[in-house]
Amino acid sequence: MTVIQVLPPAPPRRGVSFDRWQFAGRTARASSARSGISHADFASMHVHRHSAGAPHRNDYSWAHNDATVREVLAAMLSKSLYVRIQPTLEDIRFADKLFETKGQRLFERFHKYWLRHRVVPSWYGVESMRPYDQAKLAGGLSKFFLGILYRTTRLKLESVTVAEAMQCTPQVVRRVLDKMHHVAKDLAAGTCRFPKRTVADETAKQEHLAKYLPKPPKKPMKQPVFVPNPTGLCMCNCGQMTERIKQNEKWKGRIKGEFSMFCPGHVSRVKKPTGRPKKAAVAA
Ligand SMILES: [Zn+2]
Repeated sequence: MTVIQVLPPAPPRRGVSFDRWQFAGRTARASSARSGISHADFASMHVHRHSAGAPHRNDYSWAHNDATVREVLAAMLSKSLYVRIQPTLEDIRFADKLFETKGQRLFERFHKYWLRHRVVPSWYGVESMRPYDQAKLAGGLSKFFLGILYRTTRLKLESVTVAEAMQCTPQVVRRVLDKMHHVAKDLAAGTCRFPKRTVADETAKQEHLAKYLPKPPKKPMKQPVFVPNPTGLCMCNCGQMTERIKQNEKWKGRIKGEFSMFCPGHVSRVKKPTGRPKKAAVAA
């Protein structure tokens, strides 16, 4: 005789069944058991605690020299605007103006699209508008760059605090700083590459700026007028009968079922041809 004893499974012992490293592949930093934060939340959290630039990786000693900062700023502006900006106050002001104008042009496009289709800009549209907004809130692109640099390197603030002051995100602060640092490094090494386009004098600046200024509204299209031809005789006085119009072409002023004004090809006997002259006519 066999006795089969059925026992319930032993309760798991506390602390043994929990694998501390079970999420090690996903995020090796903290586990929810410790912090009480879910892993999904933690992944999208901002948890950088060190101050933004100075201590950990890049050496920002160049940022304490005003002349260098000005050159770096000019290089940054050149790279953002695809125009060589010299490190003079005049050129930097011009860069601010140019960036602002570009932003306005983009905004006007979105606004026009909204008026026409009643559709808000897409995520990409909003994201492309963001740098212009940030610069505008800071009072210009140069002030945006300088504000970030000044606060992080001289005031030693962290990226989150700087981001609040500059009304952008901490990621933007760190990215801008890193970019500036690399530009400074390139400038020191003499390997910095600038855009080829230059604006030397005031007229060149105004010309370049005018490319982005809103253009004057186009003349409204001339509306075609329907000229009735009840007799059906060709209006060039050749005496032939014209055909009835087979298809509505409102933009030409032609209405289906009515007599056409001219026989095919007879318009040129009365009206001068408009539009671009043919090549043969130009040569003669
Ligand atoms: Zn005719």
